[in-house]
Amino acid sequence: WGDANCGGDFGGVLKLAGWDGVVFFGKAERPSYLLIEGDNYELRDADDLWGTGAIESEMELKSRHGKRASVANIGQAGETLSLISGVCNDHGRLAARSGVGAVMGSKNLKAVVAVSERKIISQTPETIKMLRANLDDMVKPLKDFFSNFGTTGITAGSALNGDSPVKNWGGVGVVDFPQEVSSQIDGGSTINPRMEKKYGCWHCPIACGAESVESTNEKYPYPHHTHRPEYEAMASYGTMNLMNDPDALIYLNHLCNEYGFDVISAGVTASFAIECYEAGILTKEDTDGLELTWGNAEALVELTNMMAERRGIGDVLADGVKVAAERIGNGAEAFGMHIGGQELPMHDPKLQPEFHTTYKLDPTPGRHTQYEGNKRVGTIPDAPQDSRDYNDRGEHHKAASEYMHVVNAGGMCQFIMMTANTANIPDWFNAVTGWDMDIDEAMQVGERIANLRMAYEVREGGTPRQRPVPTRVSGVTNEGTHAGPLEGVNLDMER
Ligand code: SF4
Repeated sequence: WGDANCGGDFGGVLKLAGWDGVVFFGKAERPSYLLIEGDNYELRDADDLWGTGAIESEMELKSRHGKRASVANIGQAGETLSLISGVCNDHGRLAARSGVGAVMGSKNLKAVVAVSERKIISQTPETIKMLRANLDDMVKPLKDFFSNFGTTGITAGSALNGDSPVKNWGGVGVVDFPQEVSSQIDGGSTINPRMEKKYGCWHCPIACGAESVESTNEKYPYPHHTHRPEYEAMASYGTMNLMNDPDALIYLNHLCNEYGFDVISAGVTASFAIECYEAGILTKEDTDGLELTWGNAEALVELTNMMAERRGIGDVLADGVKVAAERIGNGAEAFGMHIGGQELPMHDPKLQPEFHTTYKLDPTPGRHTQYEGNKRVGTIPDAPQDSRDYNDRGEHHKAASEYMHVVNAGGMCQFIMMTANTANIPDWFNAVTGWDMDIDEAMQVGERIANLRMAYEVREGGTPRQRPVPTRVSGVTNEGTHAGPLEGVNLDMER
């Protein structure tokens, strides 16, 4: 099973055009894009767009089809069937995980363009307006922080508190990426001065994103109004690679968005390559002279370009760490931080044990957005505060995971839902659809989604319970737990 979610505007515009989804069968003979204008649709030639970046081709398609057009498309990574490619919209918001970009690439499908003249779709528009006003009140506690800093605002702190994996999960923040180093990637003091405009996904009351000024750094020439990197990007290229150059981080995030790479997987793959290089499994000859050393920002940029162009060592790495380790051999698999082939995201389960279960057992392994542990009002029991206390975690985790299925399948944002009362969810669904759903029915939908995804995974031969978890992640070996806030933490697999 594979799926991915993202912010942006495409889902909303597609729905306004009157479509809940689009299913593609087979493969187009030539590069193509699907144009949807209300009830009308046609496949159009995309020969001239093939080989262009996701942001570049989105701009071209918007110039053809007008400012009401929204575009979901792939960059070069999806075209070349990279297993770490995603689907892009809104100039750099990527549905990145599970390699879904390669699915579009395999069908010669460059883009889907949706155009709608409608502004609202609802069974009860007045109720929607009232609920929207209530939502504005609800998000106030989060709004100040998120709209000023976005997820970038937690990067420097997470590098030190044990949340972010450091140095390919083998390091410790307070030792390898201490405060004087991690403070250089602080959202407020170093990233925000390079931003000039707030960004929000479709009708978002928080607007946690931001867009950049044009870079003045020749080495890292990100353009005007590229997206501020999210926490996952800052950690995967930053703390994982011991790299703290703000311009390089913004540029690497931009490159991944343009190429259509999953920025988590790309950063984790770079860490894997550096550790292989450090261990002598990869040599300078293998890398065409590239010095793959910790903190080497210029090498990270060149490596990312090589992966997108499938050039030299880039071709070996372009499908992520599992495939790269198989290609390289010589013990390289010891440095591949993945579960079930999916590079692990930037939240250490030794700090929040539910992530271990989710990363290992969800049909989409290594998925941090399939569990969200914030304390909330409603039907979800609280998790124990002490991360080493395993009592009553199962009941909490089941409900929290099903809740996230409702959030993700409903197209809602996880950040906004951190402050929402679960009891409000049925009101929103009912106002749009005219249904009469209550919270128990909504949570039952979440449970059914969980069961259906798992049934599909198992039917297709998946064996989630047998997926190995890297010992650095579980704490069985002590590379990441020899010091710092997670010192000595070793997850109890049986509980
Ligand atoms: S809070 Fe969510 S919906 Fe709003 S801009 Fe941020 S990611 Fe997008």
